[in-house]
Amino acid sequence: MLNLVLFGPPGAGKGTQSQKLIEQYKLVHLSTGDILRGEISNGTELGLEAKKLMDAGVLVPDEVVIGMISNKLDANRDANGFVFDGFPRTISQAEALDELLRSKGSAISGMIALEVDHEELQKRLLSRGKESGRPDDANPEVISKRIEEYNSKTAPVANFYKSQGKYSSINGIGSIEEIFNGITDVINSYKAV
Ligand code: ADP
Repeated sequence: MLNLVLFGPPGAGKGTQSQKLIEQYKLVHLSTGDILRGEISNGTELGLEAKKLMDAGVLVPDEVVIGMISNKLDANRDANGFVFDGFPRTISQAEALDELLRSKGSAISGMIALEVDHEELQKRLLSRGKESGRPDDANPEVISKRIEEYNSKTAPVANFYKSQGKYSSINGIGSIEEIFNGITDVINSYKAV
């Protein structure tokens, strides 16, 4: 199985690259942000709770997202592999994911981090906010809060995978194709080992 963690701050381009990855490698895309937005549009209780936190730019509790991922892994038992996008976002989530995959006889192949500087991120998120209608992209204060959450809680997740020898980073600025080529180079290096 090819199980990738696509990593990077809000606006780094994880969603765009995930789409290309699932096509090329026939993987299942698991974006906790998309799953949560699905809960919101279906008006579920979970969605109502999550919306308050998401609109404020803070993380949803670990148990909630871990439960969602566990359900999705169970629902896709025949998958070739997964692209985890926006998950794990805390060390606890990363530990839980290792355990979930281990219980299925599988593991993370690697984390691929997209590097984009702060100024470019702000620009991309504000322009996405104009088109996507995502309330958390439209407000500069909420964007700053998300980046703060990322720096304090999510950035340390990179060390978790570094310590397992599973971390690679690539430049997230360039054309979609250039960045995708960088990602496929990393994936090819897994197979070479
Ligand atoms: P982005 O990467 O652009 O910030 P996402 O769609 O991944 O957007 O996430 C939007 C919001 O959903 C986050 O700000 C957070 O509130 C919530 N969220 C998504 N994934 C997680 C997660 N793994 N853990 C906690 N909260 C999450």
